[in-house]
Amino acid sequence: MTTIDPKAPVLVTGATGYVAGWLVKKLLDEGHLVHAAVRDPDNKDKLQYLDALAEASPGDIRYFRTDLLEPGSYAEAMAGCELVFHTASPFSMNVKDPVKELIEPAKMGTRNVLEEANRTPSVKRVVVTSSCAAIYGDNADRERAPDGVFTEEVWNESSSVEHQPYSHSKTLAEREAWTIAGEQERWDLVTINPSLVLGPGINPHGTSESFTMLKQFGDGTLKSGMPRWGVGVVDVRDLGEAHYLAGFTPSAKGRYITSAHNTDLSDLAAPLREAFGDSYPFPKRKMPKWLVWLVGPLANKLMTRKMISRNVGIPWQADNSKGKRELGLSYRPLEESVVDFFQQMIDVGAFSPAKGR
Ligand code: NAP
Repeated sequence: MTTIDPKAPVLVTGATGYVAGWLVKKLLDEGHLVHAAVRDPDNKDKLQYLDALAEASPGDIRYFRTDLLEPGSYAEAMAGCELVFHTASPFSMNVKDPVKELIEPAKMGTRNVLEEANRTPSVKRVVVTSSCAAIYGDNADRERAPDGVFTEEVWNESSSVEHQPYSHSKTLAEREAWTIAGEQERWDLVTINPSLVLGPGINPHGTSESFTMLKQFGDGTLKSGMPRWGVGVVDVRDLGEAHYLAGFTPSAKGRYITSAHNTDLSDLAAPLREAFGDSYPFPKRKMPKWLVWLVGPLANKLMTRKMISRNVGIPWQADNSKGKRELGLSYRPLEESVVDFFQQMIDVGAFSPAKGR
């Protein structure tokens, strides 16, 4: 049982990020002092959204310059904190050097933040934003899961530097976190393992892969069709609540799959078409697997035939009951996440309706 003093500052690493935004909002709304660890505290453009949240809430925010790759850089930000949320980690599929751009920052960053927790006597709990990517690499991994359903007991053993390197980076980082946590007894580790995150960002111009993914539904990239690619989806607003509950629920323990819906990428088009009609070039049909296998790698250099074979046409299924039972998590409908996110993109002029129709 870990009880956090609500008056102690709370550290959020990667506070400028998409996922962190709604957590920072929740903390500020609940009146906490947020120590926001960011790469560039002078970047007023990026920080304006967090400043506005602080302005409108009973809580307060202080910024600290940090970098995942710099040992010791989290010391000042963590001083006096009982609760640390470690969300910072690069989330990008389009990388040239996966070791330098994904694996090193994810793993070394986790080590730096957790070793700082070891040196900071006030810390009682660390909540690491891991991912369902640390549970599975490809949908075909369901073969190894109990009754074909991903649970908190399952670990990703199929990803590597060459195949699904982002998932590999999250697996190595979470394993590192459990190793470091297991070598001491002062603080406990809780991990939040979200599936694909959708929903409007606190910063509407976010650069997370979530934005890239949904934008493709409206910019014409997918107009000729969409593969049946099984995924889990969770709303970014519900994920903010989930982080908060993982931090402040004394009995929280272990990993939490944080995923609302077992669904399919091709199913995201229907609610968009229903809400926005044919104003945007939404994918009209579901592409058969053989066609994706044939043209996918030509249309998208990030898509390999191995990825297609092991994911397309294989439904995704995970059990989210532990988080509901132990943390009281609840989730909004998929349509709300998709439509609100797309509406935000329209509002900030992410695409012109006439183009690519
Ligand atoms: P994001 O918006 O790109 O946020 C990533 C954050 O990490 C940013 O704040 C970024 O800081 C920070 N960061 C990256 N490299 C850094 C470095 N070298 N030093 C310090 N900070 C660094 O992506 P996100 O989607 O919110 O992802 C946040 C977390 O959620 C990640 O751990 C990701 O793996 C996890 N997650 C995301 C999803 C999803 O679908 N989005 C799903 C499961 C798990 P800057 O602002 O300075 O770039």
